[in-house]
This record gives sequence, C-alpha cells and structure tokens, in this order.
Amino acid sequence: MKKIIVIVLLLFIPNQASAASKAPILLYHWIDEYNGYGQKELYVTPENFEKQMDFLKKNGYTLLTFERFEEIDKVNKPIFITFDDGWKDNLNALSVFKRLKEKKFAPSGTIFAISDFVGRPERLSASELKSLAHSGYFSIQSHTATHPNLTKTTNLDYELKHSKEKIEQITGKPVIALAYPYGSYNSKVVAETKKFYQYGLTTIPGPFAKKQLHDELFLLPRIYVNYSTSLKEFAQLVK
Ligand SMILES: [Zn+2]
Repeated sequence: MKKIIVIVLLLFIPNQASAASKAPILLYHWIDEYNGYGQKELYVTPENFEKQMDFLKKNGYTLLTFERFEEIDKVNKPIFITFDDGWKDNLNALSVFKRLKEKKFAPSGTIFAISDFVGRPERLSASELKSLAHSGYFSIQSHTATHPNLTKTTNLDYELKHSKEKIEQITGKPVIALAYPYGSYNSKVVAETKKFYQYGLTTIPGPFAKKQLHDELFLLPRIYVNYSTSLKEFAQLVK
C-alpha cells in the first residue's frame, strides 16, 4: 500500500524538464532615470529594475545567458535578461546584479552591443565591455556593426561577421547570438545569420517555447519591459 502511495505521489511531482521548455526573454534598453533623450518607454529606472530582479530572485527564477541556452530544460524557471544597444547606463544593472547576488541566486544578463558604436558618448567603452564580460554577470553579444535594418542593408557580411569578430576581439569571448536591429529580419537575413551565430533574437512578443520548428533559434521572441511597466504587470510578463 505504501509503495502505491509513493508512486502516486511521484506522478504528481511537477516535472521540471517538461515545465521548463518555455522561457521568457526580456528586452531592456536604458537602465536609468528618463532624462529627455529618446523614447521614455525604452527606459527602466534602476529602482524598478532592482524590484523586477528581486521579484525573479524571490520567485525562484534562473537567469541564463545564451551560452547556457540548452539549460532551459534543466533549470527552474529559466529566463533571459537582455539589453539592446550597449548603453553605458547598463552599468546600473551590474550594480543591481551585485546587490542581489547570493549563493542561491546568480544574476546574469546579455548586452547586445553595436560594434561600431563602442566607446561613443553614452555607450559602453571597449574596456567596460571587456570587464563586464569577465565580471561573471554579463555576456556581450552582437547587435550588428552599425544598427541598420538588416533586410535593407547591402553589407550583411560587415554587419554580421565583422561585428562578431570585433566584439570577440574586445571581450576575448565567443559571440554566438545576434539581436536583429528593430527586430527586422527575412529569410535571407536568417540564412546569413546562421553562418556566424547560434541564436538570433527578434522582437516578436511572447516567451520562447521549444516547438522544434525550423529556424526557431533564429527567431527567438522577446518581451519588452517598459518605463511604465508596474511590478504587477512584470509578474504577468514573466509568468
Ligand atoms: Zn537596437
């Protein structure tokens, strides 16, 4: 009788592997107070960002970078935190990650840098990108060389291959993921991206769910977190 109860109980223990084939990939840009430059909704204040990361910590999420993509089937509540455009204020995210780090919570995120813009005013410098890449908190990946609409550019090789090589030179680490500027792609862009990368990120809304579809790793969806996103809304976004 006891044996039967144990077996019945085992059947009802949630299976992490099947529960985890879905993973939200969050999209941030500026982590700063809105200062009048650019679109306000693309900012998240450091205070709100900290509340959001703390929510993930308290609710047992595992923050992954693309080097660990295969772990989405193995870890509890996988989630990716991504930052586009390589803004200097992403250093505020580093401070938040450092504050929240604990034995059981290892925060990490991915910065998609624009290789030709590295070191411009308000953008992360090469030495900052290098130290972020070696901090244990960030992976630095490519957002192309000049941030064009890839479906219209005439120099795909420069945007894809050169940007990858330049960022690898800066950080000394492999670049395996590309975020398409403006989320724009077509079949040619995807085919070219596959030559140099293992992952391509769009702005198709919603969480990633493994469906074994053709090219699904090059059409990864992302969820915008905005200036006006409340913590209650955030909780819904990562559900
Ligand atoms: Zn961008």
